[in-house]
Amino acid sequence: MNQLIIDGVTKQFGALKVLQSCDLTVERGSVVTLLGPSGCGKTTLLRSIAGFVTPDAGRIRVKGQDISRLPPNRRDVGYVFQNYALFPHLTCRDNIAYGLVVRRVPKAEIARRVSQALDLIALAAFADRYPKQLSGGQQQRVAIARALVLEPQVLLLDEPFNALDAQLRLSMQVELRKLIDRVGITSIFVTHDQQEAMALSDRVAIMRGGRIEQIGSPLEIYDRPRSCFVADFIGRAN
Ligand code: ADP
Repeated sequence: MNQLIIDGVTKQFGALKVLQSCDLTVERGSVVTLLGPSGCGKTTLLRSIAGFVTPDAGRIRVKGQDISRLPPNRRDVGYVFQNYALFPHLTCRDNIAYGLVVRRVPKAEIARRVSQALDLIALAAFADRYPKQLSGGQQQRVAIARALVLEPQVLLLDEPFNALDAQLRLSMQVELRKLIDRVGITSIFVTHDQQEAMALSDRVAIMRGGRIEQIGSPLEIYDRPRSCFVADFIGRAN
């Protein structure tokens, strides 16, 4: 079953055509990575799904519902920012609770859902710490819990490992994939790092000039690149 269908999404900033009738279908529970060179439109596509960017044309459907015209907070989509964007003056617990508080969820339910989320990311013992008292990897987990606690249909992650040092990256990739599998949530990552894409995803979507040039399993992309561009990008000559 398809969870997310992107159909002809187009976006122009001034004279710059950033998304050019972009199509993408993501199956329920799968992890898809948007991979491509800097400036090819990966973040703009992710932000269009989240509702931070309004496309000029095209449709975005989640579980069959057209969300293209809905404000970000009504899209049922979680977003993890590149630098995590945690509130520095709030504890882990309050960072995770924030979205529930603004949605006026009853207090007892907030406490229950936040404590579940803290268990999920194995940070219950750190609930009362502030972001600056956590490592980069722990901050990332709080940012993910803050998104997941709202029980979105789709989780979007913009370059989730950029803020981590090289050593932490690899172990966090494994941890993050395990976490996603435990929750079973449909996820879309943006990255420009092919190792990361190949290691993390069920399917890799190679972007070029505002469109998806090829989408397939990491093995398919690696073994059967459909164009010189894809072959070059993943570091294999045709
Ligand atoms: P990627 O994530 O693949 O590096 P982006 O989607 O961030 O690419 O950006 C694609 C192009 O659109 C870049 O040239 C970028 O400068 C431009 N761009 C992105 N957002 C804006 C904006 N809000 N206003 C003007 N240009 C933008």
